[in-house]
Amino acid sequence: MQQLIGIDLGGTKIEIAVINPSLGIVYKDRAPTPQKSYSDILNALHSLINKTISHQKLPHPKAIGIGMPGCLDPVTQLVRGSNTLVLNGQPLGKDLEQLLQCKVHLQNDANCLAVSEAVDGAAQDLQVVFAAIIGTGCGGGFAINRKAWGGKNAIAGEWGHNPLPWPSVDEINVEPCWCGQVSCQETWISGTGFANDHLRITGQTLKAEQIIDNMRAGDANAQLSFKRYVNRLARALASVMNVLDPDCIVLGGGMSNVDEIYELLPNELVRYTFTKPIATPVVKALHGDSSGVRGAAWLVGANKA
Ligand SMILES: [Zn+2]
Repeated sequence: MQQLIGIDLGGTKIEIAVINPSLGIVYKDRAPTPQKSYSDILNALHSLINKTISHQKLPHPKAIGIGMPGCLDPVTQLVRGSNTLVLNGQPLGKDLEQLLQCKVHLQNDANCLAVSEAVDGAAQDLQVVFAAIIGTGCGGGFAINRKAWGGKNAIAGEWGHNPLPWPSVDEINVEPCWCGQVSCQETWISGTGFANDHLRITGQTLKAEQIIDNMRAGDANAQLSFKRYVNRLARALASVMNVLDPDCIVLGGGMSNVDEIYELLPNELVRYTFTKPIATPVVKALHGDSSGVRGAAWLVGANKA
């Protein structure tokens, strides 16, 4: 099988990787994501791909895969929902195909995480995999039979801006999310949401990592903040369980590296699922930060370019 090229088009950096299906990642490079104009992003992608092809002495690819926040509108094929705002409303797939003279498979980054982990990661060979990215923001995606499942409107798994289920009064009487809704799951279970909750309750302005350090050092306030965090994460994931009952839930993003989550979450999750007990594993992404590019490359493999 030919080597596969995957790209993770993030808000701050563009990462490219060449994957040999037998050996894994054989080459990686990155460049900053231009912020000012759409054409700058197209040019940055073009030059990073050309540099990779030349460095690795690859034949001109028949296809490449790209993972990014947001998605292509299935009807108009224009980007929507990207946090790199200049991309929204642009025909990124079509423009890249013209520029690169190859097929371009574009997919939501959380779906790429799910694919990466379902192909050869923490959810290897499981049929229905839900992946949640809990980092600066919060997103989710599905892989079904090792392929990205976008859904009819390409919004499958986008539950970060669903409201936190089973809320207390205090969880409703909060400042609105940046999206305009109140008490979105992102405002509680992202790393940013965790830090904001700690600030709201304790008055301490700390980063998520510092709160975790304090929790491990025995700080009572940090321990209570983490307990609230795990309970909210359990409620958010229970809503997924009650709708699709996946074979596995994989966590990615900065908060997924907190090992204590996996000790506490199972007992919290089962409090909110409709039936009990549950057998669904909740696991950390095996490929960590590389899951985005890996999943993007597997899009090419899955589409047999
Ligand atoms: Zn929101």
